Amino acid sequence: MTGAAFRFELHHTDRASRARSSTFTTPHGPVEMPAFMPVGTQGTVKGLTLDALRATGCQMMLANTYHLALRPGAEVVAALGDLHGFSGWSGPILTDSGGFQIFSLAHNAQVTEEQVTFRSHIDGNLFELSPERAVAIQEALGSDVAMVLDHVVPLPSDAGLVREATDRTVRWARRAKEAARRADQAQFAIVQGGLDPALRAECAAQLAELDFPGYAVGGLSVGETPAEMYQVLEATVPQLPADRPRYLMGVGRPQDLLEAISRGIDLFDCVLPTRNGRNAQAFTDHGTVRLRNLQFERDLRPLEEGCPCAACRHSRGYLRHLFLAGEMLGPILVSIHNLTYYQRLLEQARRAIAEDRYAAFAAERIKRLGGDAC
Ligand SMILES: [Zn+2]
Repeated sequence: MTGAAFRFELHHTDRASRARSSTFTTPHGPVEMPAFMPVGTQGTVKGLTLDALRATGCQMMLANTYHLALRPGAEVVAALGDLHGFSGWSGPILTDSGGFQIFSLAHNAQVTEEQVTFRSHIDGNLFELSPERAVAIQEALGSDVAMVLDHVVPLPSDAGLVREATDRTVRWARRAKEAARRADQAQFAIVQGGLDPALRAECAAQLAELDFPGYAVGGLSVGETPAEMYQVLEATVPQLPADRPRYLMGVGRPQDLLEAISRGIDLFDCVLPTRNGRNAQAFTDHGTVRLRNLQFERDLRPLEEGCPCAACRHSRGYLRHLFLAGEMLGPILVSIHNLTYYQRLLEQARRAIAEDRYAAFAAERIKRLGGDAC
């Protein structure tokens, strides 16, 4: 792969699935894959100190270009020591390009071939973002991995519009590649194509020809069924080079991660562990624990037996009390537990791949995740 600062080592591919274990080395350290990145939208994973984040087993964090470019601004982040100095996170950081947020959060997004124009959701100010500007902002932010700007359309959309946005995404990826200057930042391209497997395969093949150091599958987790998502992955992944990392953006539930890994995905990010944690919902091996439910009032058990996290030193009954009393420790502890749960799940997945038993491991875990825990 390009750039001496980055290295992707494929260790093993599971005998009965496409699941693979690998190490992606960045200027700020290695990432053991399959890996999960917590979302640090504003340069902070909500509610967690850096020590708490590290203790969850997190290796790589995601930050949002759209949010940081609007506030405090990429130049301010650069002046405060780029994202690593600004946030204090010394490990690898990936920034998205802002495409997804522009099309989901901003007002009046207008797309031309040259760029996208939109109004900030914070103060209504007018912004322009081109593929080149998205590169420049992420280079100022100083992330290890930068995502190219893509044209995201809501689903379902008219087939003509999906085709147009997909073709533009490929042209924009080419422009982003030409604009990149930093050798210590790897650029990942994003496969679009809606829910059309043929269009997805075509987009992936075109982007693969451009020889990016990594590839992402974008535009999913927007209301499609799990079956539709898996179908897109089955069409896309075989078109991507085997010697580059593959990142599924914004997905998802533990069972989605397990299914995507078996289809050859290496990297994930999702707000679910922290967002659900703030809403008193805990992930466990046996499904979701909704702590506000009365059944947990006198429950002496931890959220998960054997979990080493700070939340699991307490009883479910105590955690439930923190939420009902409006104490900030409740959302903090359950966010910590959920992130620890995700990191442990992926650690177990990596071990299962190395031992050639991933397919059986995933099937068993998905079955157990079936329903709500009691
Ligand atoms: Zn725990």
